[in-house]
Amino acid sequence: MSNCTRPRSPALPNSVPERRCDVVTGQWVILAGGRQDRPQEFVTPPDQPWSDSCAFCAGREEETTAVVASYASPTPGSPHPWQVRVVGNLYPAFIEVPPDNTARAVAQDSDSLRHVSLGQHEVIIESPTHRRHLTELSQAEVELVFAAYHDRLQSIVRAGRFKYATIFKNSGRDAGMSREHLHSQLVALPEVPPLARQELAGAEQFLALHGQCVFCFLYDEVRRDPSRLVLETDSMVAFCPFASRVPYEVWVLPKPHQARFDQASPVQVREVAALIRETLQRLETCLGQIAYNYLLHTNPFDTCRQDHYHWHIEILPRTGRLAGLEWGTGLLINTMPPEVAAGRLRGVARA
Ligand SMILES: [Zn+2]
Ligand SMILES: [Zn+2]
Ligand SMILES: [Zn+2]
Repeated sequence: MSNCTRPRSPALPNSVPERRCDVVTGQWVILAGGRQDRPQEFVTPPDQPWSDSCAFCAGREEETTAVVASYASPTPGSPHPWQVRVVGNLYPAFIEVPPDNTARAVAQDSDSLRHVSLGQHEVIIESPTHRRHLTELSQAEVELVFAAYHDRLQSIVRAGRFKYATIFKNSGRDAGMSREHLHSQLVALPEVPPLARQELAGAEQFLALHGQCVFCFLYDEVRRDPSRLVLETDSMVAFCPFASRVPYEVWVLPKPHQARFDQASPVQVREVAALIRETLQRLETCLGQIAYNYLLHTNPFDTCRQDHYHWHIEILPRTGRLAGLEWGTGLLINTMPPEVAAGRLRGVARA
């Protein structure tokens, strides 16, 4: 976290490059103003179709690893035996147990610079038919996807084997998608990973300094000045963060303080599904079929502390690539002020 927690200095003209600090992580972003009137800069052509069916399609279940969980269609009379299906990742970045004695010895050597990559790595297949985009699903189908995320996280918490889990979607080749059939991934880990540790440390420091959860503070800011508000429901809000790292970055979080996504109520799960779906539809209207990632950040499971961290989903459209300046300095450059992006997202309905 940075000490500059109150971004209350006067607004700069768009022609002046401006640095902004993310109050949670302390990450600095450069807003290169004056380019927001060039929306065509971000418009991307749709993905070229890769295939019409694949091992994730219904009817080819034997081509995946064993099923972990399966959820029936919300539509009565659906011809498919499942609507959402969770399987182990065929090419896991993490394994649940060391496969042999050598690997077990390496896993137990805490001083080593080499470890077995332990964890649980699941694929959440989000449609029985060969869909590519979440926005192709109905509202009820997207609700089922988020209910499946919620259910999987609850079962990982209950199992008690891991400290942390995250769910993420890579949509489009530029976002790291390797299979086009609509899916997300869940990773559960025996430790809290670096980015979550950074957010947790920033949130803890903010609470110590200001007596408030930093994410509740961010929502209060949006309530006071709704220029970065995108959408809201009774219990959830979507907004463009002050120090947006990429054009049209959107964060979705619960309005009342809540540390973990698995603690969300069924109503909140439905509302977050609705906000994500509607936000993605509006992004597509503004930018075309862009690649994006969304990432769930939630409190670790092995702590009773619930006061400083607040679960959220970050949507990161992939409208550009990191270049030399970013790699060389660690500073990110965003050409789209979040106030302008939010205004555009508020102003469009689905085409
Ligand atoms: Zn498929
Ligand atoms: Zn909070
Ligand atoms: Zn986060």
